[in-house]
Amino acid sequence: MITIDGSEGEGGGQVVRNACALSLVTGKAVRIENVRARRSKPGLMRQHVTAVEAACVIGNAECQGLHVGSSALSFMPGRVVPGEYRFAVGTAGSTGLVLQTVLMPLLLADAPSRLVLEGGTHNMLAPPFDFIAKCFLPIINRMGPKVEARLVRHGFYPRGGGRIEVDISPAPLRPIDCLERGSLMGVSGQALFAGLPFEIAEREINVVRRDLGWSEREACVRELPDDQGPGNILLLEAQFEHGTEIVSGFGQLGVTAERVAKKAVGRMFGFLESNAFAGPYLADQLLLPFALAGGGSFTTVKPSQHSLTAINVIGQFLDGRLGFAQQPGGMHLLRVQ
Ligand code: AMP
Repeated sequence: MITIDGSEGEGGGQVVRNACALSLVTGKAVRIENVRARRSKPGLMRQHVTAVEAACVIGNAECQGLHVGSSALSFMPGRVVPGEYRFAVGTAGSTGLVLQTVLMPLLLADAPSRLVLEGGTHNMLAPPFDFIAKCFLPIINRMGPKVEARLVRHGFYPRGGGRIEVDISPAPLRPIDCLERGSLMGVSGQALFAGLPFEIAEREINVVRRDLGWSEREACVRELPDDQGPGNILLLEAQFEHGTEIVSGFGQLGVTAERVAKKAVGRMFGFLESNAFAGPYLADQLLLPFALAGGGSFTTVKPSQHSLTAINVIGQFLDGRLGFAQQPGGMHLLRVQ
């Protein structure tokens, strides 16, 4: 059995999600100790439990130590069975992170699947739905499988109640090279809000228009029905010829709208100034599919702790070698060998 020290590197939930996904794909059992030891509330939280439960259901796996607060988990994989599944994160935990856990095993299965995921769709510290649909999945689709995701209802922390649906048509993952992002085709900014004063979203958009110089058409406010809130997220999108980046600012009690917007604007500036194909979040999320493809490469900004930790976890399951090499101009190249 593979043993992973969950306190190493980033020491977050991604270690657990990647380990379960890899365990299902390779058939190798895994034990994770010191789960999320580097987080302020260590151990499994509700959303991680749902993610591992989902992995158990689709992969007929057995799991020991699976409960909220658990700091050690043993996962014995079974056979992955594609089909129709519905998983609900009881709290406003992220549906996107549940998807991260089950997507790779299902897109390498021998028949299509349909997932209904309920919970949060726009959570802090997780990929917002828009990021998954516009940044991550188009690259997966370029690698062979066909994955389509629909947002049925937004869900914000703490109320949740969001719903996404995902159709997965499996195919082997083909190595691809994503070195150039191509020219900038367009930008768009949206300040989404529900059940909160209009003025919050308006102030965010004012910062975007002023600091990034985006026009009224490019950056606007979007109000969702009150019952999908309260919630607020600022999504800034840059579409390039070969890929899209979305950075987000999460509205939070006690943080001014201007501060939320400035942080997102700063991240967008940083990405627009670099020439990299993938931003820091996309990079850590692409490592698993690229490793499973057994080849390929992409350029990115400075590798995050999430990326470095993912490489270590992947290295425990797969033979191929993944490594970042610094390129002139501050870019980094990820190559799978
Ligand atoms: P962890 O912190 O270990 O639970 O992992 C969080 C995961 O969510 C990582 O795969 C991150 O790339 C991803 N993530 C966090 N924040 C964002 C964001 N704003 N946009 C896209 N992905 C994100």
